[in-house]
Amino acid sequence: MAETEAPESLRLFFALWPDAATRDALNRAGKWLHRHWDGRRMHADTLHITLAFIGATPAARLETLIACADAVAADAYEFTLDTAGYWRHKRIGWLGAQRVPAQHAELVERLNESLQAAGFPVDVRPQVPHVTLLRNTSGGDIPQCRPVSWTVGEFALVKSVTDPDGAHYTVIRRWPLAPNIAPAPA
Ligand code: ATP
Ligand code: MG
Repeated sequence: MAETEAPESLRLFFALWPDAATRDALNRAGKWLHRHWDGRRMHADTLHITLAFIGATPAARLETLIACADAVAADAYEFTLDTAGYWRHKRIGWLGAQRVPAQHAELVERLNESLQAAGFPVDVRPQVPHVTLLRNTSGGDIPQCRPVSWTVGEFALVKSVTDPDGAHYTVIRRWPLAPNIAPAPA
């Protein structure tokens, strides 16, 4: 295919994409976990939490996908990532949460409903929100972790391109979440 032609298929997913300060904190967590578990650290600019994985999508469906996200109304929230985890079958070391905020679950649910209504494939199995920090690690005892506080104020549609050296991600579009306005004192 000529480089000037639009690609026919895009590998896409919705995710929480960190701001610079949160990315730095997640990257430090990756460095810390690597000291415990070794393996291959994920590059700082890949760090994210997947909300919904869409996979291969015809480029012609992109506008419909964007409209799905336009229709999602959800609130901003604080996500405290305070637990390291290990998936043996994938040899992945990750950072997750003891307690998943209700707003996070609502965001995922509303996004999935919107995607499903438009005919996109949706995985309805419960997911563990996590940031992959290490690959090809053998894990070990779960070390006590310094929490990362992520103020989640938006979500993103992301394109994934896999090269021989791993996946590269590009944020295509972002959607703000409604800011939490504290009730005025009586
Ligand atoms: P690679 O596949 O090259 O090892 P990757 O898994 O990071 O890298 P993608 O496969 O494009 O890259 O996945 C993008 C994001 O979506 C990652 O967070 C990944 O964990 C998640 N993901 C991929 N496949 C699925 C799936 N079937 N269900 C849920 N999440 C998925
Ligand atoms: Mg993958």
